[in-house]
Amino acid sequence: MSSVYGIVPQDNPGILQVRVPVPYPLQYVNAYLIQGDGGWTVMDPGIHSPEALELWEEVFRTTGIGFRQLERIVLTHHHPDHYGLAGFFQHKSGAPVFLSEWGRRQADDLWGNGDEAARRLWTLFRQHGMDAAMADAMLPHMAGFVELVSPRPETAPIRNSDLLQLGESLWEAVETGGHAAGHMSFYRKDTGEMFCGDAVLPRISPNIGYMPGVEEDPLASFLDGLRLLAEYAVDRAYPGHRDSFQGFAKRCGELIVHHDKRLSQMEERIGPGPCTAYECCTGLFGSRLTVHQFRFAMSETLAHLIHLERRGRIRREEQEGTVVFFRAKME
Ligand SMILES: [Zn+2]
Ligand SMILES: [Zn+2]
Repeated sequence: MSSVYGIVPQDNPGILQVRVPVPYPLQYVNAYLIQGDGGWTVMDPGIHSPEALELWEEVFRTTGIGFRQLERIVLTHHHPDHYGLAGFFQHKSGAPVFLSEWGRRQADDLWGNGDEAARRLWTLFRQHGMDAAMADAMLPHMAGFVELVSPRPETAPIRNSDLLQLGESLWEAVETGGHAAGHMSFYRKDTGEMFCGDAVLPRISPNIGYMPGVEEDPLASFLDGLRLLAEYAVDRAYPGHRDSFQGFAKRCGELIVHHDKRLSQMEERIGPGPCTAYECCTGLFGSRLTVHQFRFAMSETLAHLIHLERRGRIRREEQEGTVVFFRAKME
């Protein structure tokens, strides 16, 4: 297997970063193995694919760690690239799986309810001007995730501010939203270490997605989360993608600036209007995206437009069943 995957040792010898392959342009997700007195905690084991399993076999072979040494499985959030293997690992190890209540509910809704969630998204995207062929392609695409997250784990809840044992120490759970409702980061005060999942990523910007019936203004919640996380004294951050990094508060600030700029770009795209979210999306991200990328680009666009609307910078109208936006008149 290509050398990009596998174990990356950290300065803290009790933490192993494991790059697990994912079938997206992101290439890999970071799982972490955290050593404790009686065994290991695994965080975000990855997606349930043959490639990911093959990688884990190699990791277990080289480290001598096996399923029987896994004490607990902890999930930052419910996205398939982080959550997908948790049920399989639980089945093999008998270890408890910890996930926020929000995360569990969304996982159940997305992958335990037939195609209900996919149809809600289809309806939303169609209302916002997506053409029928693209919206139709979303349905089998969404259904394709079910096998990548099966079997689904039995989970124990993590609540905001809980002190959770990861390896040998206690880490404070810090809940933020926007990228995924109920996303948990984990902070260890005495060493200034933070597992931040996809709440803060170095060099790339976490996707902010609007999903009907979850958060009303996911971008507001994401930005609040960044301001909250920036308050923690962090020396070393372990993200869900890319490599561990320093300058955590600065990175939070950069992401806030990135979204400010994006909001202005979107506002400009809408212009005097009328302009649908889909037109705004293809105008900004282009139309040569895969179905997967389109779904993210469209959710990201909607999250920004909803935020602009709630700030009074744009307004919507419904025209023959399609939602169109206009720049709000300046007084
Ligand atoms: Zn994610
Ligand atoms: Zn991720």
